[in-house]
Amino acid sequence: MAESLEQHYRRLLGLEEPWVVEAVNLELAAQRVEIGLRAEVKARGLKCPQCGKWYGLYDHAPERRWRHLDTMQFETVLIARIPRVNCPQHGVKTIEVPWAGKNSRFTLMFEAFAIRVLQACETIQSGAGLLRLDWHSTHQIMERAVERGLQRRRTETVRLVGIDEKSFGYGQDYVSLMTDLEQSRVLEVVPDRTAEACQELWTRLGSEQSHKVEAVSIDMWEPYLSTTAQAAPHAQIVHDKFHVAKHLNEAVDRVRRAENRQLHAEGSDLLSGTKYVWLKNPKNWHQTDRLKFQALCSCGCKVAKAWQLKELFREFWSCFNSTEAESFFDRWYSWAIRCRLAPVKDVARMLKVHLENLLTYFTHAISNAMTEGFNSKIQSLKHAARGFRTFANFRIRILFFCGRLNLYPSTH
Ligand SMILES: [Zn+2]
Repeated sequence: MAESLEQHYRRLLGLEEPWVVEAVNLELAAQRVEIGLRAEVKARGLKCPQCGKWYGLYDHAPERRWRHLDTMQFETVLIARIPRVNCPQHGVKTIEVPWAGKNSRFTLMFEAFAIRVLQACETIQSGAGLLRLDWHSTHQIMERAVERGLQRRRTETVRLVGIDEKSFGYGQDYVSLMTDLEQSRVLEVVPDRTAEACQELWTRLGSEQSHKVEAVSIDMWEPYLSTTAQAAPHAQIVHDKFHVAKHLNEAVDRVRRAENRQLHAEGSDLLSGTKYVWLKNPKNWHQTDRLKFQALCSCGCKVAKAWQLKELFREFWSCFNSTEAESFFDRWYSWAIRCRLAPVKDVARMLKVHLENLLTYFTHAISNAMTEGFNSKIQSLKHAARGFRTFANFRIRILFFCGRLNLYPSTH
């Protein structure tokens, strides 16, 4: 005998005792299937969700609805009144239902599907559009997914971490990030870029695990440094080479701007529009960049000198060991300090102060670029939201996309 529509849906939904499908209503005009579920309470009763003991039916909670995976193009909704027990220890409680998490308006299967769609889409907006979800529901699904993921996450293996800052929203707001460099995942995000923020990152990792961290990739930024030295006393500090490059690039740019102003005053526009020539990696130059560059260098301008010192510093990282790197640094430093370009000399002095933690690179060749892929993702999250209204939302999105968490609900 063919199974009834009710039996068919019961099987599709994987429902077990005490749940049965009571009715399947097709709302053709609304393009919706509504599936009414009912609990048939057997003699042994129902389980208290907190202690697992069995009690008789107390009453039913008011009717609730859960959006499920669509059936063909029909939006599919489960409807039920959940039975309640009156546990002497825990009071009146609704029993757990196998198809949905607590307080969710979606079934677990729908949430799992939504997570997959959101992760595959270029932007959250396009994912939400495909799923026909509003902003709030989308956010809730992501939030619950991240909570699940964090509860399941293991951090016992974290040995190499990166600490970095990212701008957030408009203006001068920043967040601090901790990443696991080996597993390429963001571990935590907190507001600000202060010593307190950095301390909070370590606190979240836990003191026991912090003591096991072997190396930390970090900028030469005092509030991060002192906090890290205390929170992770066994970790070697390795100054991130991309931050070093950034400092040198900024110095070159300061030299260029000053010189450009001066040349302008003298009626020359030699340096106008050359900003990016000096910042690009020569490896990525086009032929036109090369020609422009040769012309600029041959006229002996200051910015060319600053640029050469910056480029030369790249060699530091390809030294064979720390002894070689140290003698390279000494030579580089003596050139840099005699170059009469204040911005370059400032950076050179800063590097000298931190030399010890630049040389640690030859023990732990780590940098924050190991998680470089996050930067573009975080950038696009920030851009898509046109500035986040709250830090909490930004954090959820970063962990959702860059946390490598197990986000999926465990289905029954
Ligand atoms: Zn109980």
